[in-house]
Amino acid sequence: MTDEDTRVDRYAVMGYPIKHSRSPLIHRLFALQTNQRMQYEMLQVAPQHLTEAVSQFGRTGGKGANITVPHKESVLDLCDSLSARASVAGAVNTLSFIDGKIVGDNTDGVGLLIDLKDNLHASLRDARILILGAGGATRGIVEPLLDAKPRSLLIANRTIQRANDIVARLPKNRTIAACAFDAVPDDVPFDLVINATSAGLKGEAPPYPACAVSRDTLCYDLSYGLKVTPFCEWALAAGAARSVMGWGMLVEQAAESFEIWRGVRPDTAPVLKQIKINA
Ligand code: NAP
Repeated sequence: MTDEDTRVDRYAVMGYPIKHSRSPLIHRLFALQTNQRMQYEMLQVAPQHLTEAVSQFGRTGGKGANITVPHKESVLDLCDSLSARASVAGAVNTLSFIDGKIVGDNTDGVGLLIDLKDNLHASLRDARILILGAGGATRGIVEPLLDAKPRSLLIANRTIQRANDIVARLPKNRTIAACAFDAVPDDVPFDLVINATSAGLKGEAPPYPACAVSRDTLCYDLSYGLKVTPFCEWALAAGAARSVMGWGMLVEQAAESFEIWRGVRPDTAPVLKQIKINA
């Protein structure tokens, strides 16, 4: 048997904090299902150590990494090249280490869209959409949401400049605007409200805008947890019939990363079922 036969390809997720991450379990299940020889580590990387952590992982034979909160924007500068969707987003959640070069991609948008359309059967055409938060995750989901032709897309963020920066990156004719949390209009309810803040991770509950929600509003929290998240609790109390945590997006964006790395598409349905049981 040669070294080549026994070598196990290494992957990782890097974030800060990271202990909430279910990515190692998801990729382990994908690998089992598709017979891939690989291992997937969880690396807690503080912002000041990101550059060193990424380059060391590549230098020591790492094949790929997922990048999560709060590094999706800062990791851009460490990439030698970017996919079109990472470049449009200005954020990266998937790195591939190829021949000494780092290639950045973004699978968050496609992951969310598959969950919304295929798993939740949400109708996005002509929808009024509100996104709360303007960090790396929002950057990844904005363009694919706009491609689904909503009537309007509003980004509300605590720091309005970050929301304005996202809007400024897009062509002027797109139906998108930015505002502060307290300026979200409350006259007509939104069809879809997405929480893309990381507030829940820190046990914080921002002042979610009142009256933006009706019974028919689909409320989607990118965050997920053992218990119903504070945003989902708020959404139900505000009158929404459906409030969903981001498990589906998590598994679908991971499947897209897995396919980039391994060239094979895992079946997401059984994995989604299994991680919810093991959550
Ligand atoms: P990030 O780049 O660090 O951005 C964090 C965002 O949350 C910023 O808009 C920030 O506002 C806002 N925020 C944080 N604490 C807040 C508070 N107390 N009140 C109001 N706003 C607050 O993080 P990210 O990468 O965008 O990720 C955001 C969330 O999405 C995380 O919880 C992450 O786990 C989740 N996520 C889930 C999936 C999935 O597959 N389900 C994929 C991607 C991300 P400021 O700009 O004002 O600081």
